[in-house]
Amino acid sequence: MRCTQIAGSVDVAFFFIFLTLASPILAWVNIVSVGMYTGAYIALKHKQNRLAAWLIWTEVIIHAALGIVLIGWDSGFHYYLLMFIPAICLSAPRKWTFPGLLMLWVYYVGLNILARFFQPLQPIPDTPLYLVHLFNLTVVFAMFSYLTVFYLGVVLSAQKRLHSVAITDSLTGLLNRRQMQYLLDQEIERFKRSGQPVSLMLMDLDHFKQINDTCGHDYGDKILRAFADILQKGVRSQDFVSRWGGEEFLVVMPQSSLADTIQTAERLRAAMESYDELKTVEQAPKVTVSIGVTMLQPGDDAARIIGRADRAMYRSKELGRNQVTAA
Ligand code: GH3
Ligand code: MG
Ligand code: MG
Repeated sequence: MRCTQIAGSVDVAFFFIFLTLASPILAWVNIVSVGMYTGAYIALKHKQNRLAAWLIWTEVIIHAALGIVLIGWDSGFHYYLLMFIPAICLSAPRKWTFPGLLMLWVYYVGLNILARFFQPLQPIPDTPLYLVHLFNLTVVFAMFSYLTVFYLGVVLSAQKRLHSVAITDSLTGLLNRRQMQYLLDQEIERFKRSGQPVSLMLMDLDHFKQINDTCGHDYGDKILRAFADILQKGVRSQDFVSRWGGEEFLVVMPQSSLADTIQTAERLRAAMESYDELKTVEQAPKVTVSIGVTMLQPGDDAARIIGRADRAMYRSKELGRNQVTAA
């Protein structure tokens, strides 16, 4: 929209320039252009993007040709046609890319050959012609820069979205298992270098199959999301929280002592036990969690420390569930 406003204003300026330069046809062409850009602006405002694109591109094609036929190739109006190259490659359907580029090339080269064999119909003096050339060159330079920065922004934000999808568990919004595995490996490497403590909590919701069976799968999903929320709110910002499996969660806590981690685990266990915001389902049983806590030891790899946390968590199950065991 901003582009149509700028292009329209540039054409108004050109109207007066060409009028004083005694090139009236080109002056009036600019008035038609202003009309087309205004139309494109209104179309964009009404979300008629296709119509706006047609108006803008028709304007550019005709305007470039008229500029060259009337005041010559040296006016530099042909530069605007080069804007079609990224536009065709990025926006046209795949099967139209090559034919579109070929048509553009034929049009561009055709105008160049035409300009070589025919004199301009309404030539303007040399210095103003050169100034028009410099002006067009500058506008196209700016347009290419803007377009490139714009598309870079589009690509970067798409990349960011894809990355976020790739590392996130879709149900809970926590880190997924693959990303947690990657982060855990990084923490192990850091531990080898610095010796700073790293703790782990492996958690498994108790009798979850039964929750699903009595209250339905959707209710089970709500519980999983609620527990994810409890976890995210209950740990520090530097801790990593992941959904490790179906109803299993893994939390990695850098720079946390075993005593601190046990305390946090106990707080999270108690929060789940007292959670009753979803008690809309009749006879919904209380949902509890069993937790295994451990610390990274010299010589540990990811499989070994997770194995230890898993055994601690199963010990909690054996001891009656809804508790924290350290190993
Ligand atoms: P335990 O106390 O020994 O852990 O018993 P449990 O029933 O929790 O353990 P089990 O491994 O037998 O069952 C896990 C259940 O978790 C079975 C499965 O249907 C459920 N589950 C796994 N993923 C999801 C999910 O995404 N949504 C829902 N609603 N349930 C899930
Ligand atoms: Mg399980
Ligand atoms: Mg379970």
